[in-house]
Formats: sequence, structure tokens, C-alpha cells
Amino acid sequence: LSPRFISIKGRDYAFKHYPVRGPFIKNEALIGDIFEEDEIWSCTTCGACEEECPVTIEYIDKIVDLRRGMVDEGMVPQSLQKPLSALGKRGNPWGKMEKKRAEWTKGLPDVTIKDLSGGDTAETLYFVDSITSYDDRMAELARATATILSAAGADAGILGKNEKDSRQ
Ligand code: SF4
Repeated sequence: LSPRFISIKGRDYAFKHYPVRGPFIKNEALIGDIFEEDEIWSCTTCGACEEECPVTIEYIDKIVDLRRGMVDEGMVPQSLQKPLSALGKRGNPWGKMEKKRAEWTKGLPDVTIKDLSGGDTAETLYFVDSITSYDDRMAELARATATILSAAGADAGILGKNEKDSRQ
């Protein structure tokens, strides 16, 4: 994976297929002919390339957008099919039960954070995300955040079982 070459190949593709004058030419597939599937899925979105790039090129958005297009086209690696399916069905990549999403709030001493899944409202929404909700070690972050919000007197709430990491 070379983010620099991803940019160069994308630029060349755009110049070749979308000329300023004349009709667009579409005789090469973006994935397959220009980019390899592997190179698009290899990026960990760590951000190192953007941090070090001397001309501040943004790579990650382009790579992630390419992935979105590939998912829309059904070009999903085997290893991602199960987590993506779980994400669609249960809103988290492990397929864990929705009702357990707010379990990290149990036993928090003197902390007030509302569970808005019952229709309650709050001024501040704390979107927790899946890994912080379900992973025991990451849940410490959620507990610390809730403690800070509560200590600051914020009228804050979480979506609880209604929170999903996908739009379905
Ligand atoms: S974000 Fe990280 S993994 Fe992705 S292309 Fe940049 S340096 Fe490589």
C-alpha cells in the first residue's frame, strides 16, 4: 500500500477519463484496472501519511470513499462480511445484543447520565460507539466521560439500546 501512488493513480485516472473538453471516457474500472482491492482494504486509517505529507494531501477520505463504493458494489473481503452483516442487523460489528449496550453505566457511583432510549430528552448527547460500549477495557472511557459530564452538571444522555454504529 502506497498512499502516494493511490493519489497519483487517482489523478491520472481523472485526467484520462474526465477531460476538460470532450466526453467522459469510461473504459477502465476504478477497482481492478486502476486500484487493487487489497491496497484499498490494507489502509488502517492510522493517519501517518497525512501527518507526514509535505503538501498536506488528504488520503484517508479518498480511501474510505473507495471502500464505500466497493461495499455498495458488493466487493467486500470475506473477513469483513460477518462484521458488516452484524453491523447492519445489530448496530455493532460483533452482533452483540442491543439491550446490553448501556450495561457499562451500571454501578456508576453518583453519576447521572440519562438513557434516552425510553423517550427522555437531554441537552447533550453522548454517542458512545460500539467498542466503548461492549469492550470491558474501553468501557472505562465511557465511565470516565459520564463521570466528567455528570460532575460538570451537564444534562447529558446516551441512546442506550437505540444507539447503532450504522444507519440501519
Ligand atoms: S492512513 Fe496509515 S495505513 Fe492508511 S495509507 Fe496512510 S499511512 Fe498507510
